[in-house]
Amino acid sequence: QGLLNGYLRDFGSHLRNFQKCVNDMEDVVRFADAAPDVLDAPGAAPLEVTAGRIVFDKVRFRYPNAARPVYDGLDLVIEPGERVGLVGASGAGKSTLVRLLQRAYNLESGAIRIDGQNIALVTLASLRRAIGIVAQDPVLFHRSLAENIAFGRPGATREEMRAAARRAHADIFIEGLADGYDTLVGERGVKLSGGERQRVAIARAILADNPILVLDEATSSLDSLSELHIRAAIEELSRGRTTLVVAHRLSTVQRLDRILVFEKGRIVEDGSHADLLRRPGGAYRRLFETQSSGMAIDRPLEHID
Ligand code: ATP
Repeated sequence: QGLLNGYLRDFGSHLRNFQKCVNDMEDVVRFADAAPDVLDAPGAAPLEVTAGRIVFDKVRFRYPNAARPVYDGLDLVIEPGERVGLVGASGAGKSTLVRLLQRAYNLESGAIRIDGQNIALVTLASLRRAIGIVAQDPVLFHRSLAENIAFGRPGATREEMRAAARRAHADIFIEGLADGYDTLVGERGVKLSGGERQRVAIARAILADNPILVLDEATSSLDSLSELHIRAAIEELSRGRTTLVVAHRLSTVQRLDRILVFEKGRIVEDGSHADLLRRPGGAYRRLFETQSSGMAIDRPLEHID
């Protein structure tokens, strides 16, 4: 009897914790500046991701109250499983692309399709479930590291959670902490560096296993070891998933399948690192030369142009 009461009490407290966690998460994922007219279309069906092909079809978009559109007829096809890096100067239109993919705003005209389904006509919940996001500066909850990672998949076993941490290269620093996976993080918890928090977020995303992934690279400078771990973690996470990486360092995109160079809302170059480097005087080659000349090592791209 006493044992059963104990179990029930524990269960109740886990449930409350979980509910609190869900509420925290909802606050974080809610788009601070999302437009009020982003709602489910009447009769919207859930998105079904079969392969992960993304198509931008003559997309025209202007931020509410902005004078000029960011994109005026943007066309782009991303094949299933392709890993694509978005580069370009600040304000060129990299982040807006991934915001529109999540339907943070409605388009002025054109369409974005995932596996043939117009994202304006599927339910928002199913769209956002399909897309895993690793933010630039991930927020961790005031919970244990284990709970922060397992948030990606409620009900994951401890072993699954640890396996995700290993694949995200997060186990290395976590196992060095006195309380390991039970260490509390967030306000009042242990302070983690930007690179460590990003690896926890990557572990969470590995566990969540969404078919499409958006990764916003940290702009803060990381030490080179941390950068190596992050790069390896990104490779692990993006394997077999359509992945968009908003990159601030060229070192991150070199090993991706494809690089899109943005200038003023247009894609001015599109190809692999090797392809783009071969173009004399090309936009990517210029960025690369500036960054490798030693002037701008470890400085985010936006400060170079
Ligand atoms: P960064 O590397 O600085 O993040 P970016 O390439 O991601 O830049 P975007 O954030 O996509 O650029 O911005 C594209 C354009 O849209 C810029 O001219 C920017 O000023 C404008 N913009 C971005 N967000 C908003 C917003 N919420 N409201 C109005 N204009 C915006």
